[in-house]
Amino acid sequence: MKFKELAELFQQLEKTSSNLKMIDLICDFLKKTTPEEAKLTAYLLQGKIAPDYKGLELGLAEKLVIKAIALAFQQDVGKVEKLFKELGDLGDVAKSLAKEKPSSLEIQDVFNDLKKIALTQGKGSQEKKLEILAIILKKSSPLEAKYIVRSVLGTLRLGASDMTFLYALSKVLFGSKEGKKKLEEVFNILSDLGEVAYLALKKGKKALEKVEPILGVPIRMMLAQRVKDIKEIKENIENEIFVEVKYDGERIQAHLDGNEIILFSRRHENITNQFPDIIEDLKKNIKVKNAILEGEVVAVDKDGKLLPFQVLMQRRRKYDIHEYVKKIPVKYFLFDLLYLNGENLLYKPLKERKQKLESIIKKTEKIEIAKYSVCSPTNEDEIEREFLNALKEGGEGVMIKDSNSVYESGVRAWRWLKFKKDYKEELVDTFDVVVIGGIYGTGKRSKTYGSLLVALYDPEKNKYFSFTKVGAGFTDEELENLPKKLKKYEIKEKSKLVESQIEPDVWFEPKVVMEIKGADLTISPVHTVLREKIKKGGIALRFPRFVRWRDDKSPEQATTVQEVFQIYKKNL
Ligand code: AMP
Repeated sequence: MKFKELAELFQQLEKTSSNLKMIDLICDFLKKTTPEEAKLTAYLLQGKIAPDYKGLELGLAEKLVIKAIALAFQQDVGKVEKLFKELGDLGDVAKSLAKEKPSSLEIQDVFNDLKKIALTQGKGSQEKKLEILAIILKKSSPLEAKYIVRSVLGTLRLGASDMTFLYALSKVLFGSKEGKKKLEEVFNILSDLGEVAYLALKKGKKALEKVEPILGVPIRMMLAQRVKDIKEIKENIENEIFVEVKYDGERIQAHLDGNEIILFSRRHENITNQFPDIIEDLKKNIKVKNAILEGEVVAVDKDGKLLPFQVLMQRRRKYDIHEYVKKIPVKYFLFDLLYLNGENLLYKPLKERKQKLESIIKKTEKIEIAKYSVCSPTNEDEIEREFLNALKEGGEGVMIKDSNSVYESGVRAWRWLKFKKDYKEELVDTFDVVVIGGIYGTGKRSKTYGSLLVALYDPEKNKYFSFTKVGAGFTDEELENLPKKLKKYEIKEKSKLVESQIEPDVWFEPKVVMEIKGADLTISPVHTVLREKIKKGGIALRFPRFVRWRDDKSPEQATTVQEVFQIYKKNL
């Protein structure tokens, strides 16, 4: 299929902010593609060329793209820069310079070239990237050029999420949105939208039943619901429970295949290089053919005492890793086993997965099983004791897990519950919110933001709803760094994924997640969380304070409007 048709789809998607309309547009498009083209479409729609876990990113610098546009359309760089100033978007600049011509580019051609651009590295790579881009732009029509430029810059922002695509795929395959659940299950295991599209369209519905974990491919992680009171546990779980320490670190999924080990973060980044110490211990002490394990890595001091998450974040670096291995030692607390010696354990009950996990782990200086005890969900005293023990251990609370539950990949299920110390403090709750806007500061804060407008995510609508403005809780250093940290997410207009009545001075793409605390939930005439449901206004947070950045979370992993509604109802 011609890339021109895909560019036309992009244009239509850009014009709508209705998720339902987007689903229909993508559905109609997928009906015309081959399975191979559907796979490429899945990536290109989000400006990607591979699933996230492969870490292949485009993101070319504006300067380089300006040069490529100049070369492709035989203009001098000064003229392109001038046009850029006028139009404010390099995609529009390319569009204005390209000539209408019969389409010659196939989707596959464009995809191959974009991939080549991403893969070109090392000495002289900038020149090569520039050349490849210029050649493809030369062959493009105006519309094609616009979207190719936005793709390489990483500014495509069509607003079609993974879920939008899965709904569309379901309509193609099942004739309705009913099949989305099944497709999502498959996506949760393969973490690759393109692969799901290919499998579904090439092999049909039956193939979806047989999907197994693949070593080296991250499985989307199971998440927990929060409870504010120990009494709520028995309302949700009938079976025996594991009450486990909730460590304040980073979740890591380890894939062991013979001597090869890969570590994935919650966002599916390959973080193997950051933890040579963990890799060494895993190699020495786990003797299996292959396995997929999960646990939490936590920073510790020289006596083995657990340290907060912020300390661990210093290990997130490209350089000086070995120095930091010594400076910031860590421990890996394992709590789940998803795959062992060729056997898929996702659908086995947790108690069986835990038994198997314990049979393959030998405790070392760096690796141990997460501490837990087995309780009845009705034994509130015992759960409370375990909670206090967990705090003494250095945990931030407990995870309560149904011993009979299967591993519900990618789902925030009521089979895992989290109960944190913050929830116990009266009227205090923590939320992971997404930064959507900045309001300039005055006086002492004149060089930075006075406050940030933040939002909650609604996975059903694929939108971010404004929730509160956060100005308190930042250290002076954090405040000073705000403009630098947020600069690359600045956009000229409100993202179409954002619902806000407040007009901040600067809009941001909804990408950055931070944890905040607040006093209580209230109804606000200006905020937009669940405004349609509540009518009088939206749910908002009063007296918010910044707690920490959550760079380990993607915006879709932020607190949802549905979660906040549950808390709001209980507090009424
Ligand atoms: P939250 O980040 O507050 O949504 O809590 C869920 C996170 O807690 C998981 O993604 C893990 O990173 C972390 N965690 C810490 N200890 C455990 C545990 N024992 N079991 C499961 N998750 C844990």
